[in-house]
Amino acid sequence: MAVANVIGAQSSADQKAARQNGAIIALIGLLMLAFPFLGLAFQGLGFDWDIGDDDVDSMSLALGFVTLALGLNIVVGFAGLLDLGYAAFFAIGAYTYGVFTAYQIMPAWSSAWDIVAAVGLAEKVHRDGMDLVHFTLSFWLALPIAAGLTAVCGVVFGFPTLRLRGDYLAIVTLGFGEIVPIVFRNTPAVTNGAAGLNGVMAPQFFGHSFQVNPKPYYYVGLALVFLLIVISIRLRDSRIGRSWMAVREDETAAGAMGVDHVKSKLLAFAIGAAFAGMTGVFYVAKLQTATPDMFGFPVSVMILVMVVFGGMGSVWGVVAGAMALSMLQSWFLPSLTGWIHRGGEAVGNDWLQQVDLARSTELIFGLILVLTMLYRRDGLIPATRKQAALSFDAQNVQGVRRGGFDTVAAAKILATMPKRGGNLLEVRGVTVKFGGLTALNAVDITVPSGGVVAVIGPNGSGKSTLFNVITGLVPADSGSIKFDGGEILGLKPHEILERGIARTFQNIRLFANLPVLTNVLIGQHARLRTGVFGAILRMPGTAAEEKGALQRAIDIAALFGNRLTPRLNQTASALSYANRRRVEIARALATQPKILLLDEPTAGMNPAETLELAEQIKSLHGLGLTILIIEHKLDVVTQLADTVVVLDHGEKLTEGKPAEVRRNDDVLRAYLGRAATEAARAS
Ligand code: ADP
Ligand code: MG
Repeated sequence: MAVANVIGAQSSADQKAARQNGAIIALIGLLMLAFPFLGLAFQGLGFDWDIGDDDVDSMSLALGFVTLALGLNIVVGFAGLLDLGYAAFFAIGAYTYGVFTAYQIMPAWSSAWDIVAAVGLAEKVHRDGMDLVHFTLSFWLALPIAAGLTAVCGVVFGFPTLRLRGDYLAIVTLGFGEIVPIVFRNTPAVTNGAAGLNGVMAPQFFGHSFQVNPKPYYYVGLALVFLLIVISIRLRDSRIGRSWMAVREDETAAGAMGVDHVKSKLLAFAIGAAFAGMTGVFYVAKLQTATPDMFGFPVSVMILVMVVFGGMGSVWGVVAGAMALSMLQSWFLPSLTGWIHRGGEAVGNDWLQQVDLARSTELIFGLILVLTMLYRRDGLIPATRKQAALSFDAQNVQGVRRGGFDTVAAAKILATMPKRGGNLLEVRGVTVKFGGLTALNAVDITVPSGGVVAVIGPNGSGKSTLFNVITGLVPADSGSIKFDGGEILGLKPHEILERGIARTFQNIRLFANLPVLTNVLIGQHARLRTGVFGAILRMPGTAAEEKGALQRAIDIAALFGNRLTPRLNQTASALSYANRRRVEIARALATQPKILLLDEPTAGMNPAETLELAEQIKSLHGLGLTILIIEHKLDVVTQLADTVVVLDHGEKLTEGKPAEVRRNDDVLRAYLGRAATEAARAS
């Protein structure tokens, strides 16, 4: 990963590994380029091996599976959307080229077609005494057209299913995958029905037809694989790829950090579909035939097994997985069948002589899936490398850092906070009901610009619900929430974040399987501009933005001294509880907030860590950041807050300076109960 190179501590080892991997990939690339001619090389060296046309053909087929797997990897691996009907997009791409080149689909000619013929998309043919239109869509034009068309289908299909996750989404996609071939079978006027399309035109390259020579197809397949690997990697390492992984890891947290999950998922569907569309064109041009049966459920499952076997979310893993399983199917199983037959002849066993493993591929793929799940869940080449634990010394080079953040560094990171008078956040009469339970009842809270307001109250009093309603995670039944002068009630979480409200969660919600650095980078999502094309083309402007974002993420982590910096490449799930809380705060700071909402940030920290964090929060306040904090530890509250709001049973009990609130009878009663309060008074 490019990211790894930037970080000092591990860079030399990582760079060496990256160079080694680069060399291996280059070598494999060269071998692939030379593959159709390797037979000659072998014979030159005196070996009796040949690479025949059928081998090149099998290899082209394998390349087609690699491109399909790369596309499905974007949907399933990157964005975490389980799609069991992926072959439908493959079919749509295949038919796009098939319908517009085959000799089965020929409407009657009229002069209106002249114009289409003039641009080379159709020709007049005379058959059975009639003039007919034969479409002559160029293969090279069909590739982008099919990609565009399937991308649109991906969006149209994705839109109604967006609210679904996991099993439900899988079932809907399964249905979609079944519907598409059925539609093709039952619209003979357009698709020639169950008989399918035969005699699809072979591609032309500068006037030369590919005909049935397998080599040109092989090289087109190789070019397509190369292109899609580059696109996959560039997307993965960009703002777009990070937004997919954020949604995959935790949709709620992704929204609260500025990722529009609707847009993000639709993009994944569209791009995954476009990969399948292009492969469809390639496939049908190579086979020169298309029937609805070629795109059924077993194909979707086969591609899914390739992705899982290779390693979900891992580009090279998926390439290796698809390659390995395709070769298993086209070379190894037939050879093995041959050996079994010969073995059967030798021992005179009839059954062995009739075994045909190539006809049991579905069974064998099923077994491979089961074995992968049991023994190697992350696949051949896992997407996330396991990081070695830090050494004891590395963990303890520095003790607790006193005095809060380095204010010079922190000031650079927080956009300058204008100290304005007035209220930044105004919650008025907000009521939230969960069925019969009123979690918040007409609550009013104001947070002055640059102030620190603490919310306290017993468990279940509605504090976290208050944060959820402010950040758009739960809807309000009534009331109004004004932020920076504008109403934010009813906005989506990512829109609220864009306005400048960032939060942490009581039950930490990090992107558990992503490195610390990526977690912090995702925090910057709303402040970066890179789109799909920017990410794929990676022009200087985009590269500079990415570099800046990376440096900023490193700087933000560095605020916490050596707590996070040595762990930037570790997955969030590998961190201690206190460090996870720090990453969550770092991620929230990365969003350039105007107000920071902290939900019990010191829960689970020991007294020294609590003090460290309280001082850090204080230094943020010193720099002008407005803070709303939920906290149980009263000494922290006293140290930080200008104003304390006490909630009880969803209602605001009282509000005032920390010292006043501490003495308030109602507050004591809410916390300790009446009897205990009286006992405390008496003693
Ligand atoms: P606090 O953070 O003060 O401990 P919460 O805001 O988490 O309290 O919860 C307030 C009340 O609302 C509790 O009774 C809780 O069970 C309920 N509650 C919170 N979220 C939901 C939800 N999504 N659905 C139903 N009830 C909820
Ligand atoms: Mg809570």
